[in-house]
Amino acid sequence: MPIHTTVTTASQLANLDLENLQFGKVFADHMLVIDYKNGAWQEPHILPYGPIEVSPAMAAIHYGQALFEGMKAYKTKEGEVVLFRPQANWARLNESAKRLCMPEIPEDLFMEGLKQLVALDADWVPQRPGYSLYIRPVMFGSEGLLGVRPAEEYKFIIFCSPASSYYAEPVRVKIEEHYTRAVEGGFGFAKAAGNYGGSLLPAKLAHQEGYHQIIWTDGREHNFIEESGTMNVMFVIDGTLVTPALSTSILAGVTRDSVLQLARDWGMKVEERRIPIQEIVDAYAAGKLEDAFGTGTAATIAHIKSITYQDQEMMLPPVADRKFSNRVAQELDAIRYGMAPDPHGWVVPV
Ligand code: PMP
Repeated sequence: MPIHTTVTTASQLANLDLENLQFGKVFADHMLVIDYKNGAWQEPHILPYGPIEVSPAMAAIHYGQALFEGMKAYKTKEGEVVLFRPQANWARLNESAKRLCMPEIPEDLFMEGLKQLVALDADWVPQRPGYSLYIRPVMFGSEGLLGVRPAEEYKFIIFCSPASSYYAEPVRVKIEEHYTRAVEGGFGFAKAAGNYGGSLLPAKLAHQEGYHQIIWTDGREHNFIEESGTMNVMFVIDGTLVTPALSTSILAGVTRDSVLQLARDWGMKVEERRIPIQEIVDAYAAGKLEDAFGTGTAATIAHIKSITYQDQEMMLPPVADRKFSNRVAQELDAIRYGMAPDPHGWVVPV
């Protein structure tokens, strides 16, 4: 597929400071832009990264037709640039698009555009342990028309940002019983911009109370565990890996799926089901709550140090003692950097 490419004449690569990299502040030289109009995706362009012109009346900023994705490219020790499970992000993007009445994007257009963009900016993928190039696809209604109906014009853009190794302190989390991230029948399963806007205030309030993160619960009764911040959440209870089953209120994380697959490969017992808060409290009281962690593209695994429910802070075992979450984090990294076999074909060269 021909992609009209304009190579930058003002590369910012020489200014890239890997020692002091802050997440999401520095952008690679190029972006992929594809417009949708007259009922069809138009020809793709790769352009120098920079501002775009939009209408103040565009649908995205009024009625929330905006979605995004997040994934990473890695550089192996041989210097090859690879993507991790990009088809899974493509498929999830289209699930989000359907829910928001936005056009789906064909797989070849997405994959070719993505690969050509990342290949052009290959020098932006740091070759260092734990480092990666974070890739942000975004789609939004760009038609300038004030009317609550699906827009007839959209923009699909992919741009990239180099990311350092994300070492996260184990987090203190609070089980949220007042605010709700998403409800059954809503659009929590979509990576819709609106889901994030609505989560900022509860997260800010939790920070003010001294928590790093919220554990979201179901919107009906606040009795069941859903997600942790912007990650899926998992527990090891008496040797079994337990995570909330997917539903319309839970985002189907690519990391979640990868972790569950590896656990099954290793013969671990895995359960995807509803998890009552009370089960966590009881497991903790019985000394059977062995591990708790979030899963997501940014950190892969974010260990949970403690979980507060009402007045009780439940302290989890020291991170060094947590066999499963440490092993799975290490294995996923090894697969991504080409240092372990890839039996599921997750790694895709650009
Ligand atoms: N849940 C939410 C709400 C998220 O924003 C994310 C990050 N995309 C995840 C879970 C984890 O998904 P993934 O493993 O695909 O990054």
